[in-house]
Amino acid sequence: MLRPIKQFKSEGSMMHRRFAFPFISVVLLLLAATAFAQTGAKHFSGDAWWAHVQFLADDNLEGRETGSEGLRKAQAYVMAQFKKAGLEPAGTDGYTQPVKFVSREIVESESSAELISGGNAQKLVLGDDAYFSTRASLSPDAITAKLVFVGYGLKIPEQNYDDLAGLDLKGKIVVYLAGSPAETPTALSAHYQTALERWKSLKAAGVIGTIGIPNPASMDIPWSRITLSRTHPSMDLVGKEFDETEGLKLSLVFNPANAEKLFAGSGHTFAEIAALGKDRKVLPRFPLAVSLKAHATMKTKAVESANLIAKLPGSDPTLKNEYVVLSAHLDHVGVGEPINGDKIYNGAMDNASGAAAAMEIAASWKDQPHPKRSLLFVIVCAEEKGLLGSKYFAEHPTVPQKSIVADVNIDMFLPIVPIKVLKVQGIAESNLGDLAKDAAAAYGIRVQPDPQPLRNAFIRSDQYSFIRHGVPSVKLDLGFDPGSPDEAVFKQWLTVRYHAPSDDLSQPVDKASAATYEEILRQLLTTIADTEARPQWKPDSFFRRFAQ
Ligand SMILES: [Zn+2]
Repeated sequence: MLRPIKQFKSEGSMMHRRFAFPFISVVLLLLAATAFAQTGAKHFSGDAWWAHVQFLADDNLEGRETGSEGLRKAQAYVMAQFKKAGLEPAGTDGYTQPVKFVSREIVESESSAELISGGNAQKLVLGDDAYFSTRASLSPDAITAKLVFVGYGLKIPEQNYDDLAGLDLKGKIVVYLAGSPAETPTALSAHYQTALERWKSLKAAGVIGTIGIPNPASMDIPWSRITLSRTHPSMDLVGKEFDETEGLKLSLVFNPANAEKLFAGSGHTFAEIAALGKDRKVLPRFPLAVSLKAHATMKTKAVESANLIAKLPGSDPTLKNEYVVLSAHLDHVGVGEPINGDKIYNGAMDNASGAAAAMEIAASWKDQPHPKRSLLFVIVCAEEKGLLGSKYFAEHPTVPQKSIVADVNIDMFLPIVPIKVLKVQGIAESNLGDLAKDAAAAYGIRVQPDPQPLRNAFIRSDQYSFIRHGVPSVKLDLGFDPGSPDEAVFKQWLTVRYHAPSDDLSQPVDKASAATYEEILRQLLTTIADTEARPQWKPDSFFRRFAQ
């Protein structure tokens, strides 16, 4: 059985106390040395990490929304830390890489949607029944179209799976349930549920709009909280290369609790669909008896923000021209609808915690020999807007694209319980999964694949931007064993604090867990940087295709 990390710590202090007794101390030193060889060196205590989190998640920084003064303050802090750590600027303008966005905001008072059946119109209550997604090019001119239920709305050639086959979808609005059939591997399922991939196949089938119904079996946060942020501006990168939903005229997100309205008269019920979706069974597909008529007004404005990029130069004359990226997003969702009287969404765990860990890890090589390859610390903006900062960086990197050998991403790693097991997103996709396992084992920690594949975490953070450009990537988080008390702690955290004002500095955290996590990441980065061969996708990995 592997050693728990607490035992290791007390051994270290015992070694100092007994130093006066020569024989015993030699024996203990030997024991301690063995322990060190097995469990890895220590660089972190968790205290400096928490101090960084305290600065970044302070109410002063107002939730670090992309483009806000709060995020600029956070960025100034991070740059000062990088400078103090002796890292070289590696942006296009010192440590920064400016990024331009367009922000879109729905004006609900000038928007409406109704379901029409047999000449009767039933107005949808925006917020209660559904809300407009600003991903679509919404128009104040009303459009009316028939609805077709398309199951999960997925086309997965690798699985010979096609929810669109045999349906007439030309000029239609499709209704789909979020999720995928059980036989679809996690990574594949996540990939085809991205807005880009989903829209590719829908567009090819002639679809003009979408109504997505969150899968009640895999909703992180209740509808009442999802819908609170619906009038909050969304953002997109400026530039045609970034338009992923060209031709999408209308997009609604529909409350699963009210979704029976869509199915009335179709011969099916949403209850039946949800029951199948819960077990990831294949769903029926059929035309619905209602049409949708909708128009919407959007306000747009230009927003500017930046990524921060810092370099720890490698020590090998050749390998130093290659880069191992450690990425973490610094932005959060800013100020929003109050919950329990609090309107600042501090984002302490999401992702002040990750940016803080990245700063700590970056600083840990000060006055220490550097790894062979260079490390690139990429602290992005606009993750919460759809991985936009990382998408921009991956498309326009500040080092040659081919020189990036790997991305290790930190996002909301959740040190809220004593660390026992690490969840590795992408564990089976590249040999980074094996290296992560070794790094964790050096600190007495097991690894596991994602126990909640339905959450689609593999495509929900910045590593995915690198993966799309062929770069082997992993993301590490604290995990839990199914059925354990820790599972309940994580579930409760997601329900109550995830993307809520209570993800703040008053929540309990485990600093020792954070420190161990940092050790493991530092170890992983060192191994990747020092190993002669570049990390490789596994031969059977779906994501290998992007490396071509
Ligand atoms: Zn988030």
